[in-house]
Amino acid sequence: MGIEGLGDLDIYDDDSAKNEDGAEESQKTVKVRDPEEVEAEYVFDKTYTCPVCDKSFKSKTLKSNKAKLISTDMDLRPVHQNIDTVKYDVVACPCCGYAVLNRYFAPLTSMQVKKIKEAISKNYKIKEEKKSKIYSYEEAIERSKLALLSSVIKVGKDSEKAYVCLKTAWLFRGKAEHLPESEVEEIKRCEKEEEAFLSKAYDGMVAARRKELFPICGMDELTFDYLLATLAHRLGHLDVSARLVGEIMAKPTANRRIKEKTGILKEVLKKDIQAKKQNE
Ligand SMILES: [Zn+2]
Repeated sequence: MGIEGLGDLDIYDDDSAKNEDGAEESQKTVKVRDPEEVEAEYVFDKTYTCPVCDKSFKSKTLKSNKAKLISTDMDLRPVHQNIDTVKYDVVACPCCGYAVLNRYFAPLTSMQVKKIKEAISKNYKIKEEKKSKIYSYEEAIERSKLALLSSVIKVGKDSEKAYVCLKTAWLFRGKAEHLPESEVEEIKRCEKEEEAFLSKAYDGMVAARRKELFPICGMDELTFDYLLATLAHRLGHLDVSARLVGEIMAKPTANRRIKEKTGILKEVLKKDIQAKKQNE
């Protein structure tokens, strides 16, 4: 399945778990555990039935409430202890190539099924199930790109396409963070990819803001506008970002977490706008 050309793809249409820790840790000696083994404890093989080909398949899925949130990046990417949960956000059918963010996993219309079969399944090479207990970044990125392709082919909402782009960008960020510093070229490549996917996410979110009703991507208006402001800042649209920040700060209903984050963004913006003026 050739998904290399995604860079040129026209995406937007213009108009439950138990804690099983501790079993081995009763031994007094502290062993350095294999990170893959540790990560594997956070996921399980969940069985899905594909809405396109009707076959059942397994997809690695997070155990609920097991991963501990450490922080969130400016653009709300969650950072968890021992695992990058973003790697497990896509459900992908190994039989027909259909893939989707798990939050959007749902039945499809017969027209959508037909489109996916014609545009994706026909050329898709069935994947043999790997023995690995976790998804590598390479696999996760491939799955995310497949989800993007599926969302475009089935003519999904702009918000869905944008959310896949955002998650793909987060995967490249996560991958870069996990590479050894000596891998300069590969880190640079990941950063470039991250930027490209953030830009696509931004375009889709601007379109979704115009056309869709909240909640969008599971976010209320305020959270969504904060995310837009962050992406606008990151992509150099400082005026757009400043306008959104002003609007968020003016809202009395703003939730505290988002107001705090917006306050931080406001300070960063101020410096960046000053620096830009000095350079002019
Ligand atoms: Zn399928």
